[in-house]
Amino acid sequence: MKTNFNKRKQTPTRKIFLPVILFFFFLFETGFSQSINETKKLLDRLDLSKSRLEKVKQSSGNPKTAAAELLKYYKQREFVKHPVDRSLKKSAAGNFADDDDLKIANDALKHYFIGQRAYPPYFCGEDIDWSTKPVPDNEWVWQLNRMYFWDSMGKAYWHTGDEKYAEEWGKQLIDWTRDNPRDDEHKYAWRSIEAGIRGHSWTNHYQRFIDSPFFTDEVLVALLNSLYDHAEYLMTVYRSGSNWGLMEAEGLAFIGFTFPEFKDAEKWREEAIRRLNREINIQIYPDGHQRELAIGYHLGCIRWFMRTYELAKMNGQENAFPESYLETIEKMCEVPMKIGLPDGTNVQFGDAWAGTPGQHKNRFLEWSEMFNRKDFLYLATDGKKGTPPDSTAYALPVSGIYSMRSNWDKNATCLVLKCGPDGGGHCQPDNGTFALYAGGRNLMPDAGSYIYSGDPENRAWFRQTKIHQTLTLNGENSAYKPKLVRWKPNDELDVLVVENKSYENLMHRRSVFFVDKKYFIVVDDAIGSATGNVDIHFQLAPGGDAIFNRIENSVHSDFKKGWNIFIRSNPQEGLKLEEEEGQVSFEYTKKQPRPAFRYRMKKRKNQDKIQFVTLVIPYESEVPEIKITRSLVKSGNMEIEVLENGKTRIINYKMNN
Ligand code: CA
Repeated sequence: MKTNFNKRKQTPTRKIFLPVILFFFFLFETGFSQSINETKKLLDRLDLSKSRLEKVKQSSGNPKTAAAELLKYYKQREFVKHPVDRSLKKSAAGNFADDDDLKIANDALKHYFIGQRAYPPYFCGEDIDWSTKPVPDNEWVWQLNRMYFWDSMGKAYWHTGDEKYAEEWGKQLIDWTRDNPRDDEHKYAWRSIEAGIRGHSWTNHYQRFIDSPFFTDEVLVALLNSLYDHAEYLMTVYRSGSNWGLMEAEGLAFIGFTFPEFKDAEKWREEAIRRLNREINIQIYPDGHQRELAIGYHLGCIRWFMRTYELAKMNGQENAFPESYLETIEKMCEVPMKIGLPDGTNVQFGDAWAGTPGQHKNRFLEWSEMFNRKDFLYLATDGKKGTPPDSTAYALPVSGIYSMRSNWDKNATCLVLKCGPDGGGHCQPDNGTFALYAGGRNLMPDAGSYIYSGDPENRAWFRQTKIHQTLTLNGENSAYKPKLVRWKPNDELDVLVVENKSYENLMHRRSVFFVDKKYFIVVDDAIGSATGNVDIHFQLAPGGDAIFNRIENSVHSDFKKGWNIFIRSNPQEGLKLEEEEGQVSFEYTKKQPRPAFRYRMKKRKNQDKIQFVTLVIPYESEVPEIKITRSLVKSGNMEIEVLENGKTRIINYKMNN
């Protein structure tokens, strides 16, 4: 039996033995000659005349030896400085990755990758398919090709010291470079921002993994050749005027600074710095806000401008930037202080996300040291150190964003209004809108943006003018034609008057008066010959009911705990109070219903103006007993009589004050 068994096993084995050997020999041969060609290509791209590369040059006739020498050189090289400091690897053990990083890294070992972060990790195949798109949203595949999970793998490697992360990273890197040549078939991997993002982040990964025994000459050759392709590509693309241009430049700069051995490295560095110096003047308004007017991109731009500056500085080249470069960055850093909400969350104008309370503390701490700013330190430490910002009201007059707050406490009352120019694709036609926060609650948040790609219907919904706290004509979207008329912050009364030529024949003038640093009177004028339904819209926070009182034209939120908001418009003939559809999104792909309503007046022929005078009052306990008994608001002058808890009071403002 035994003999027969062996015979039976041997026969088929012998039949396939030779072809299998030949097949593997062929694979080995092609693999080998491929890697020789790759090494030759790389050697040709490097400046071997540099004395540091003497040994590589000497062995350049033998690519295998040259690659080994090159690897030895890079493992020993110390003169290039990078924000990821290799010498910290040892001290990083046990304190470098958090649970999220470890999970993302461990999933990535099994090829479960995160593309766009709002979606769960997805298996992309034993042999990774880098074009995987498990959801209709293109962001998923674009972001897959940014490989954020490699950053987690690098952190997990330093944290645990486990070589499996380095080994797998090297394999995935080689796989990506082989699978994704830059051609029409692989466009999903080669948008210019992904190329820029990789150009930067791959230099981080290089720093994290270079000291691993699994960082082989094959990994090195694949990495450097691909970075060369990245840099050459980034030299040909330059999207001026948007955050894209900065990511493109950053990738180029990081490749050029981290690998000065490339013949073209200096050219890349110079071009990247030229673009950043140019873009900081093009993209940043004199008031400090980046021109796209969405806070997340603004913060990103601070990072992109800053990182290349710091890299240049640590490599002794900060003189490539004029002094004004840093002054502008400092001005940019003031923006989240000036227009952020009291708990540190963002107002969601345009494609912006509220984020979490206190989210900017680390930034403010870093900036407080960099620019020696006590107000930044105050925000970084919840007021324990430093000094409060010098005002409770700030205007960014070119960007058209204005903030008024009662004080610098977390529970302060704060209104942030926008009436600015068109910021492009990340901006929404929302001029006149505002967010209102009081008593630790965002009582009237902006709806946000919900999604970027793959769901055009819902993306469009969140971009409508009429879902913002502003005025519309017949529910249509407004134009961007802003003008600042008056900005007069004062102890008792902050005054802001803005105009927007929202429609061809209709101008919206909004006057906001912050009374006693406690409540707001909002006066809306619709001026011009247009006819139709003129609405002012309001939206409340999700999670609570809204109580409508149609007799007195008021609405208030009904949170059982904490602060609420009361809104009441002055009575006038024909005024209608109507509910609207309300939604809000604080996280990508997630949305929830919320109360929304409008006050509507019909504007007729020969009627040159419609005016709404509205009280917007945050309160802590009882619903306020307050109404407007008389109002005269004209040409910037205001006299409003209110009946407040049974007492008559006149609030006055004159234009020439
Ligand atoms: Ca919005």
